[in-house]
Amino acid sequence: MLSGPWKQRLIYYANSGTNHKLPMRNSLDSPRTILGREITQTKNMNLSFSFQNKIKGEIFYDEMMSKYTSMKIGGPADVFVLPANLKDLQIILRHRGNSPIWTIGEGTNLLIRDRGIRGIVISLKNCFKSIKRPVFYKTSNGQNRALVQVDGGVKLSYLAKYVARYGLKGIESLVGIPGSVGGSITMNAGAEGTEVSQVLRSIKIMTLDGEIKVFNKDEIKFAYRKATFPSKGGIIIEADLDLEKGKITDIHSSMDKHLSRRSSTQPLTMPNSGSIFKNPLGDKAGRLIESSGLKGCRIGGASVSIKHANFIVNKGNATATDVINLIKHIKTVVKEKSGTQLEQEIIVIGQ
Ligand SMILES: Cc1cc2nc3c(=O)[nH]c(=O)nc-3n(C[C@H](O)[C@H](O)[C@H](O)COP(=O)(O)OP(=O)(O)OC[C@H]3O[C@@H](n4cnc5c(N)ncnc54)[C@H](O)[C@@H]3O)c2cc1C
Repeated sequence: MLSGPWKQRLIYYANSGTNHKLPMRNSLDSPRTILGREITQTKNMNLSFSFQNKIKGEIFYDEMMSKYTSMKIGGPADVFVLPANLKDLQIILRHRGNSPIWTIGEGTNLLIRDRGIRGIVISLKNCFKSIKRPVFYKTSNGQNRALVQVDGGVKLSYLAKYVARYGLKGIESLVGIPGSVGGSITMNAGAEGTEVSQVLRSIKIMTLDGEIKVFNKDEIKFAYRKATFPSKGGIIIEADLDLEKGKITDIHSSMDKHLSRRSSTQPLTMPNSGSIFKNPLGDKAGRLIESSGLKGCRIGGASVSIKHANFIVNKGNATATDVINLIKHIKTVVKEKSGTQLEQEIIVIGQ
């Protein structure tokens, strides 16, 4: 049994980073420990990742993903990286070895399972946050428009308010969508008949090999809440939008209307992930769930919202398993009662 300075040194190594090999956990439920003391250090923990000393951004190990999802659910990610800039992102992707990569934006459309994510999760929370001043132009038929270059980590709601200041319209109905620009393009997010793809001109992606590629809108396949890129994966770092000139006051009042409609119809004070199911053609998932008598239906800590039946809310202690079981239950009951097979909008990842 070690004691005194050696014990202290081992604990110091565990918490500060060292060339010594660190012990592995037996299972996800048992934290890494040295001499019975839990290792809390978040940097330099796993030396197999050669990018850890090369980047300016932050790296966390076994970071709970519940901190980064709007549903406040999600187990630990093996490695969670917050790159500080483009160079960091490139270094991470080029030095990741065989580790799978997962990208997280604002985490507003993600359900991460309770045992978390094996691999590297990259969050754009600390980078890719700028919007370039709009460049105005006139079309051949005399219409005033502008191109706006925006980074993938910018919040869509912030972008909508930013362009409104220049009297640019086209995304005012998306102002209440809480996701990032990158996540919104990946999901082809939309509201009130407008989808992100309608105003998109091109995107800049960093491929999983760290290459930068630009794709024009016509190279991307858009569908309802879905986009497929020619690069088969990659991280959206920038997008060019093409917006129409309108009247500032009209755009602001339209945004106010959209925001107040959301706060009166959606359970915005409780953790949720927006619509759980896609709307079936010609119908609304919320209407089908409500008419199946499922409003308020609860499994564990997950409950169908009383305010909006297509929302599942976390009542405080919900697990991903609770949500998944509730989703299965809703699908079964709606199929039985209406004959409609609901399709999930929310993306489920992890173990
Ligand atoms: C209250 C509430 C209301 C909502 N209302 C709407 C609505 O009206 N319409 C609608 O369409 N959605 C809505 N949503 C869902 C969600 O906000 C959108 O789908 C949003 O576009 C997701 O963006 P995100 O950054 O949160 O993505 P995340 O949830 O973090 O990720 C979603 C997917 O995008 C990928 N991704 C994220 N960022 C990038 C990136 N930079 N590059 C490549 N891939 C990336 C992820 O890997 C994942 O596959 C709502 C959600 C909530 C909580």
